[in-house]
Amino acid sequence: MRVLCVHAHPDDVEFLAAGTLALLAQTGHSITIVSMTPGDGGSASRGPEETAAIRRKEAAESASIIGAEYVCAEFRDLAVFNSDSSRRRVTELLRRSRPDLVITASPIDYHCDHEATSALVTDACFAASVPNYATSVSDPAPALPAIPHLYLLDSIGGIDRLGASIEPDFVVDIGSTFETKRSMLAAHASQREWLKQQHQIQDPLETMERWTRARGELVGIEFGEGFRRYGGHPYPQTPLLEELLGTKAIAHSKR
Ligand SMILES: [Zn+2]
Repeated sequence: MRVLCVHAHPDDVEFLAAGTLALLAQTGHSITIVSMTPGDGGSASRGPEETAAIRRKEAAESASIIGAEYVCAEFRDLAVFNSDSSRRRVTELLRRSRPDLVITASPIDYHCDHEATSALVTDACFAASVPNYATSVSDPAPALPAIPHLYLLDSIGGIDRLGASIEPDFVVDIGSTFETKRSMLAAHASQREWLKQQHQIQDPLETMERWTRARGELVGIEFGEGFRRYGGHPYPQTPLLEELLGTKAIAHSKR
C-alpha cells in the first residue's frame, strides 16, 4: 500500500504518528511524509529561508530513518489557507503520490495551519479523483481512480481550542517502534530552541513521550497514537488502516 501522511509543519507527523508509520514501513508499505510548510517561521535567530533550509534537511533525515520519502508542499508558516489555488496544489500532490491511504491533521486544532491543512487534504482526496478538476500545472498527473481512505490524527494535546477533549476511534500500540519515533523527532534538532521560547516546551522529546504514554493509557498500553477514520460521504469506510495494523490497532470506546 502507498501511505501519504500530511501535516502542516516539519515535526508534527513525528509527534503524532511516527510510531505507526514505522510499523507500516516495517511491514513493507511505502510511506511519504509531507509537511505543508518548511517551518520557515520556527526561529527567532535565523531568517525564514535559512530556517526553512535547515528544517527541510531535518525532516528528510527523520523520514529516512524508516525509509520514507519526505516532500515539502512549500506553503509558508501561518499562510496555509483553504483557497482555490491551494486546493489545486494539494490535489496535484495527491495525484503524483497516488496513495491508497491518506493520514492528515485534525480538523480542529490549536494552530490555523493545522486546521487549514486538514480541510485542504480532506477536500483534495475528493478532488483528486475528479478527472475534470484541473490542477493548472504544465504536466499534470492523471486523476486518482478513487477517493483514498482517509484518517485523521489527534489534535495537539488531544483538545480543541476551548480545551474540550477530542478522543480517537482507536489507538495504535507503538511499543515496538517508540524508540524509532523518538529518533525521528530528535532529528528535528533546530526546534528545541524555538519550542522553548514560543511554546514553553523545555524538552520536546519528553513532551512527546508524555503524550504518547497518555494516548496509550486510554487503552491500557504503554505507548500509543490515536486515529479517527474520516466518516464523510462518499469516502471509503472499510477499516483499511486498522486491517494493515492488525492487533496493534486497539478500539477506544469514547466516554
Ligand atoms: Zn504544527
